[in-house]
Parts: sequence; C-alpha cells; structure tokens
Amino acid sequence: MKTVSSLLDERWYERYKKISKLNIRSSIYDVTDHCNLRCKGCFFFSSDEHKAASEEKDVSKWHTFVEKEMARGVNLAILIGGEPTLCLDRIEAFYQRLPTFCATNGLIKVPRERFPDMMVGISLWGSQEDEILLRGKDTFKISSNNYAGDPHAYYLYTITPKQLGKTEQIIKNVEGVGLKVHMQLLSNDEGVDGFSWQPEQLMDIRAEMDDMLDKYPQTVISSKYYHEIITTGRMLGRPFGWSECPSVTITHDNRTPQPKRLTNFIRWASDLKTTHRCCTSETRDCSTCKDGAAHMSWVMVNKRGHIRTTRDLQNWIEVYEMFAKLYQFIPW
Ligand code: SF4
Ligand code: SF4
Repeated sequence: MKTVSSLLDERWYERYKKISKLNIRSSIYDVTDHCNLRCKGCFFFSSDEHKAASEEKDVSKWHTFVEKEMARGVNLAILIGGEPTLCLDRIEAFYQRLPTFCATNGLIKVPRERFPDMMVGISLWGSQEDEILLRGKDTFKISSNNYAGDPHAYYLYTITPKQLGKTEQIIKNVEGVGLKVHMQLLSNDEGVDGFSWQPEQLMDIRAEMDDMLDKYPQTVISSKYYHEIITTGRMLGRPFGWSECPSVTITHDNRTPQPKRLTNFIRWASDLKTTHRCCTSETRDCSTCKDGAAHMSWVMVNKRGHIRTTRDLQNWIEVYEMFAKLYQFIPW
C-alpha cells in the first residue's frame, strides 16, 4: 500500500510534517455590505449578496458572535465584504481572538498600531488601464503607497484575459514595492465584454503563470499544480463544479454523495444570522467558477487521492504550503 512516508524523501517528509499539523478550520465573514468601490465583476454586488441581510451595527454582537464561532471550532477568520476596512471595530472583534485575514481593496490603510500582524490581502485587477476600466480607479497607486514593504500584506492579483502577456509588468510592480503576490483568475460574473476566458487563453495564462513563478520565486506565492487546477478545472481526472466544491456552506450542503469538503465551513452575511451558499457568488454557475480559494481547498481536502505517486503528493504539499503561507500559518 502507498503511504506518505513511502512516497517522500526526508526533505519532502519534513515539509509534509509541518503542514499536516496545522488542522486549519476557516470560515468567511461579510464584515459590511458597503464598499468604497464598485468593480465590474464584483461577485458580492453582482449577486445581490449585499441585499441578503441588513448588517449588524452593534459591535458587542460581533464580539459575542466571534466567541460562538470559536466554540464551533473556527481557527481562521477570513474577512471580506464589501470593504472590511470601513468597519475596523468589527475587524477587531475577530483579530483580538483568532488568526484573521482581511481582504481589502487597499484604499484605506489598516492601522498597524491597532492590527500589527493581521494578514491583509489587497485586491488588484491588472494594469492601470484595466483597473480604471473595471474598478473606476488605479487602486495600485493608492494601495502600494499604503502598504509598501509591509511584511503582513500581499497582493491578490485577479488575472483577466486582457492581462495575457502583461502579467510580468504587474509582478515587477509588486516586487518594486516590496510585497508578495498571489494570482487567481477572474470569473467575469457580470459578463463584461472580452473578460470571459476562452480555452486557448487558459492554456496560455497557465504557461505565463508558470513562467512568473520560475522568474520571481521570492515574490510570487503560488505553485504550478495550482495553475494547472485553476486553468483546466480538473484534478485527478475529475472536473471542478458543484458536485466537487469543498467551499459550500455546511448548512446549504444537500449534496449526495457529499464530496470531501471544508469542515464546518460557513460563509456568514453581515447580519451574523444569514448564510450564503458558498465562499463566492451566490448566483454563479459553478461550471464557470474560477474561484482560487475554492480550487486550492479542493486540492487540500483531497489528500488521500494524492497519495498515489511522489509527484502527486508533492503537488498536494505545495498547494497546502501556499495556502498556509497566504494565511500566515507558515512563513513566506
Ligand atoms: S473592492 Fe471588492 S468588494 Fe468592493 S466592489 Fe470591488 S470587488 Fe467588490
Ligand atoms: S460558485 Fe464556485 S465556490 Fe461557489 S459553490 Fe459553485 S463551484 Fe463552489
């Protein structure tokens, strides 16, 4: 029988041991229904998730809620929105108690005296031209000024088909301000003309992402297996989609048979009562979903399937390490 130790040499086994201890239990929280941008293709607004609930304004209720989430076993809070930095008191309710990640557009600087080591993931949608087209603003100019050199921040670069051939300049820009970058692909939830992926573009962007990782290993936090999975939508010969997705809110999960999934995962709306279907758009057709975190988690929850060949298991380890770095469970 194939076992982990039989497939790995000593060096890889050490890497495996470090991550196998982590036992990460994440959930996702909409901190607010408001944002200081309105990006074309934003999954939150395009699926009307901002109307799903009326946000809880009493901060003491957020504190009580976080305690209950911890009792449920959550050990990583992923804060999204809207724009979480509009509500720092609510962020604090999480940050005081457990490892917390804050997704932001970077326009407002998280005060580091209040949140010294909170990991911040800054969204970036491409070049200045694309950012202005899709988001109405050159956010990099502002966010890089706010976060240059910050050891607890990185760019979450959403690559669009228009970025083909242009990613290197973005990576260089990020490197130039002393930050790291993680790449994911746009799902184009609002059908903006020219921003939906065609099969040949996915092949090309996979090669380009691989190339960026080879050229900028100190700046790009990624893995080639992750590039393969998000561009092909296939893992171990199986297609990604509703029947395989690991990031479905547990209380919405009526699938039979139930696939491997994130333990007790819930995505909460900002009223702290309503839950959304999954980690991303409520209305997205799963067959078009390119969500990076869902694909990453898909690999992570399917460890057993990767105990097949040395390369498969190494691929699994690399994706797990990538996730652990992005959420600060292991150092860059
Ligand atoms: S910054 Fe984020 S939450 Fe705000 S509109 Fe853009 S994608 Fe949506
Ligand atoms: S939209 Fe994506 S993340 Fe949500 S359930 Fe479908 S496949 Fe999963």
